Amino acid sequence: MRQWLALAFLALPGCGAQAHLLGTRGTYLMTVYDVLSRPGETVDLAARLRGGDFLRDRPGYVVRFRRGAGPELFKAAETDESGRAVVEFTPEMPGDYRFTIDLAAAGFAGSPPRPQELHVACRAADEPIAVVDLDRTLVASGFQAVLVGDPEPMPGSVAVMQRLEKDHTIAYLTHRPDFFGIKSRAWLAEHGYPPGPVLLSSVSGFLAGSGAYKTEAIARLRERFSALRVGIGDKVSDALAYHENGLHSILILPMPTGDDPEDYAELALALGRLPDAVDVVTNWDQVARAIFDGERFPARPIEERLERRARQLKLDTAGATSRRQGGSP
Ligand SMILES: [Mg+2]
Repeated sequence: MRQWLALAFLALPGCGAQAHLLGTRGTYLMTVYDVLSRPGETVDLAARLRGGDFLRDRPGYVVRFRRGAGPELFKAAETDESGRAVVEFTPEMPGDYRFTIDLAAAGFAGSPPRPQELHVACRAADEPIAVVDLDRTLVASGFQAVLVGDPEPMPGSVAVMQRLEKDHTIAYLTHRPDFFGIKSRAWLAEHGYPPGPVLLSSVSGFLAGSGAYKTEAIARLRERFSALRVGIGDKVSDALAYHENGLHSILILPMPTGDDPEDYAELALALGRLPDAVDVVTNWDQVARAIFDGERFPARPIEERLERRARQLKLDTAGATSRRQGGSP
C-alpha cells in the first residue's frame, strides 16, 4: 500500500508539488540512468522526459549527450513515444565516464529541465562490488520521509561507505522508482557518500515489490560481474536477494517500535527463516565489524529478543484486559 501511496503523490497536480517531491525545476522531469558496464561492452545511455500532471511521456524533444561538462557534443537523439532518448556508448577501458545530458530548448514554453549527469562506471568483470540499499540503510528514515522531507544519514554510514569504497566499486541499488534519481544522487553527494552508479527501479519494478526487483537486478549484475562481494539492506527480502546471489549479506534490521506484539512476532519468524550466513545487525558500527573484521552477527539473539518482547506485550495486554473485566476500584 505504501507503494501506491508514493505513486499517488506523483499524481498531485501542479508543478509546485512535483518540483518539491522530485527535486525538479518546473513541470518537466528528465530522468537519466546510470550504468555499470564492462570494458568493450556497448551500453545504452538513456534519458526519459516526462511532464505535466501525471507525468506523461513526452515524445519529440531533442536530448543532447555530452562527455563530461565540456561543450563538445557526443551524440543527440529525439525522445520516442515513451519519452525515451537512447544512444549507444562503448567504454574501452575501466574508468568513470560522466555525461552531461540536456535538452534543446525547442518546444519548451519556459526553461527546459535542468541538465543531469549520467555516470557510466566501467569495471573489469572481476572488480569487487558492494551493493547498498538507500532507504533505512543509508537513509535513516523510510521512503515517505524522502518524499516530503530532508532525511538524515544513518549514523556512521558515511565513514563505513568511504572505507568500503577503497577496495570496492559501490553500486547503490534502490527500489525507489526512477522519478527519484535526481533527489537520490543529490542526497548521496551532499552527505559525502562515495560516488557510484545509482540504480533505481522502473514503475513496473516498483510495483513488482522490492524483493522481486532486487533479486532480478542483482542476478543481472552477477551475469556480468564475478566478484559481487557484499550486500547491505534493511529488508529480509534484500538479505535473501544478496545471499541467493552469493554476496556476503548484511541485514540492518529496523527494530519495531510501538506495542503491537504481532510486529515483533512476525519479524522474529521472518528472521528464523534466514540462512545462517546472513549477518543481522542493528547499526553501522556492526556493519563495519562484519565487513572488515569478519565478525559474525547471527540472527538468533535478535530473534529471541523479538520473541521475548512479543510475549511480554501479549501478557501486558492480557493483564490489562483481565483488570478491566475484574472492575477497577
Ligand atoms: Mg531499504
